[in-house]
Amino acid sequence: MRNYTKHYINGEWVESTSTETMDVINPATEEATGRISLGTQEDLDRAVRAARDAFPSFSTTSREYRADLLEKIAKEYERRKDELVEVMTEELGAPVKLSEKVHYNMGLQHFKQAAEQLRKFEFTERRGDTLIKKEPIGVSGLITPWNFPTNQTSTKLAGAFAAGSTVVLKPAELTPYAAILLAEIFEDAGVPKGVFNLVNGTGETIGNGISSHPDIDFVSFTGSGGVGTKISENAAKDIKKVALELGGKSPLVILDDADVKAAAKNAVSNVVMNTGQVCTAATRTLIPRSMHDDFIEAVQEVLPHFPVGDPQNDSNFVGPLVAQKQWDRVQGYIEKGIEEGANLVTGGTGKPEGLEKGYYVKPTVFTDVKNDMTIAQEEIFGPVMSVIAYDDLDEAIDIANDTIYGLAGYVFGGDEETLQDVAHRLDAGSITINNPKMDFSAPFGGYKQSGIGREWGDFGIDEYLEVKSILGMPS
Ligand code: NAD
Repeated sequence: MRNYTKHYINGEWVESTSTETMDVINPATEEATGRISLGTQEDLDRAVRAARDAFPSFSTTSREYRADLLEKIAKEYERRKDELVEVMTEELGAPVKLSEKVHYNMGLQHFKQAAEQLRKFEFTERRGDTLIKKEPIGVSGLITPWNFPTNQTSTKLAGAFAAGSTVVLKPAELTPYAAILLAEIFEDAGVPKGVFNLVNGTGETIGNGISSHPDIDFVSFTGSGGVGTKISENAAKDIKKVALELGGKSPLVILDDADVKAAAKNAVSNVVMNTGQVCTAATRTLIPRSMHDDFIEAVQEVLPHFPVGDPQNDSNFVGPLVAQKQWDRVQGYIEKGIEEGANLVTGGTGKPEGLEKGYYVKPTVFTDVKNDMTIAQEEIFGPVMSVIAYDDLDEAIDIANDTIYGLAGYVFGGDEETLQDVAHRLDAGSITINNPKMDFSAPFGGYKQSGIGREWGDFGIDEYLEVKSILGMPS
């Protein structure tokens, strides 16, 4: 059993001021694997004070120093690879291969990318006698979700460290282990005392405490829209800057010249990856009506190639959902889809055969989905694909953009001109054409209710900077 009853404050593991703890459950076994302390406002205040005290010195370090530090972090992170992969399989239920290839790797790339971007980042610009200067924002409060334990934390931390901001992190209480390992990694990499502080606890106490803390200058949050609204409301009281990375209901537009089998594979892998617990998941699949039946047949052929099961088993691609609460939520959406008249092609409610223990769900495909149905409008956060047929491309774009969200969009097909046209017309922060390599320097964030701000690469550094103009300052 892992016993993490301390917080990391001012370069030390310190006892929580509360004896209250929470068990961390392995979603594949439904058994506790350890526990964490649920911190208090007092713990948070102490962490904020440490970050505040460390700020004057860290914010004035050189760009080279911080880029070197990020590289040292990346090296330490690589050294702890096996442990990181192991804990993410244990706390999230991510199959080992996914844990390594996606979760571990994304975290690593953010540190590497931030170091690279920082070395060429322009902190000043001259316009005649005016100097425009970017300065670290101060103390940042970071609140992260459970669906990508290292990716979500690392992208924020890499941006903050690159900019010279000091931080207090509150990771999701469902998946705290990866963040605890990060604290150890930072210590070994030589992150100065007080620059990074970790307080475990609930959203109600520590999350709320961060967004309303008078000595925190900026809050960067990833998670649900409802919590994003609460954070904005709290932060508005003292005009604190907020960045929000929220949900999505992203469309995948398949063009009529697409190879049906390749399109089906692309659509399925996107929707079942991380058991559908992905904010950018392409959960609405838009298919030309003429290709619909062939596509559904191909989807059914492809699905068994993404086996559901024990995340410790290398051959499985889909693990359990993270928690009972998420399992109940996904079941509710599947029931709602059936109730509202969508056609259940495969999957459905209940657990897959032989997987009664663990929060496993059946990858589910609905056809005859109307875009105003609940399953086409709300974020399910499970492996549920809603297939919508379209007659022409204008209609497809209208359907794709008919959502409160705008995080991601996908287009899959052959004709380059049409692919690019669709990419330009989708209202979302990240558009993917066919299957490109990931680009960790590309800004990541949402339009509309998917959020405010951008992470990753140089845009991710900008989040943690204020802009100052100095007039009458000849060079
Ligand atoms: P959540 O938004 O409740 O939790 C995310 C983080 O916010 C956690 O660290 C949580 O402790 C914290 N938090 C909770 N209440 C808070 C408050 N009042 N003030 C400040 N912080 C608070 O998400 P969840 O309950 O874990 O998941 C619910 C749904 O949110 C999911 O089903 C999914 O739709 C969405 N979600 C989206 C993302 C994303 O990447 N966009 C990630 C996780 C969850």
